[in-house]
Amino acid sequence: MRWTSSFSLIVLLLAGCGAADDNALESGAGVDNRGVGKDNWWDALPREEWTALERLPSPDDWFEVYSVSDGVYAIYEPGQFEEVISYLVVGERRALLFDTGLGIGDMAAVARSLTKLDVVVLNSHSHYDHIGGNHAFDDILALDEPYSRSRARGSDTDAVAEFLSPGWVWKDFPDGFDPAAFRSRPYAIGGIVDDGDVIDLGGRQLEVLATPGHAPDSLCLLDRGNRLLFTGDTFYLAPLYTHLEGSDFGRYAESARRLAALAGDVDVLLTAHNVPIVDSRYLLELDRAFDVISSGKGSYVVTDGSREYDFGEFSVIVLPENVPN
Ligand SMILES: [Zn+2]
Repeated sequence: MRWTSSFSLIVLLLAGCGAADDNALESGAGVDNRGVGKDNWWDALPREEWTALERLPSPDDWFEVYSVSDGVYAIYEPGQFEEVISYLVVGERRALLFDTGLGIGDMAAVARSLTKLDVVVLNSHSHYDHIGGNHAFDDILALDEPYSRSRARGSDTDAVAEFLSPGWVWKDFPDGFDPAAFRSRPYAIGGIVDDGDVIDLGGRQLEVLATPGHAPDSLCLLDRGNRLLFTGDTFYLAPLYTHLEGSDFGRYAESARRLAALAGDVDVLLTAHNVPIVDSRYLLELDRAFDVISSGKGSYVVTDGSREYDFGEFSVIVLPENVPN
């Protein structure tokens, strides 16, 4: 993960590779409420897990695009703390874009560069770092959730200003991007999906699994035929957030239990932050982690008022009122 290093060294390194940006890293800037060690998140870059994958050209330098398996592309935003990963899944008749990223780069151009088929968008959940490019698409599916409808109405600049604040971005913004005007732009939800629905892309079926907890409208996509599970923010190898506004620890634990039952049906988890490919055994570890926390066991540290429970390659951040003392 991302541990301590002197700020001057970071500046030197970034200046050395030409990536330093005047509005980016500043001394004393940091990432609050996101777990231990987050202030130096960029130390982990570039992450070596990506080097094993075939990198493809991107029409927008903000994104890095990789082929992760047959017909599945990871669209990665390493220039910002969230290191969001969106996925384009291409079938024989149409494609599905699972998340549209931060809204800093031109996600629609990236999707067009990868497929000529119609693209339908479905978000892993409606946090702002996953819906940022939705406005550029006209075929958007969502769960029938008030949270989804609320987020589709867009935001003011204040709601997303943190994403661009000092210590959160190291890469130059794309030409024409105005950080002062950055906000979540409204979009139209054109269709509803329910838990258990199967989306047929032609030769490839994706099953919708409602997995609330991290957010009220969190969902995973199961590709049984290819033994893949797209997990969104419900699982990745970094601090998992049960403590945000709208999060629900109890529902997250139920979702983890449900996903653990699928561990034998999938080989690989495709996660929405940091690194794309994670072994499916972590579904069992996630379920165990919630058991440990719920039973009042487990070691934790307190940061920014929340407890962060350490499980090795991932952690879980929990509000103290959600767990026994
Ligand atoms: Zn999220």
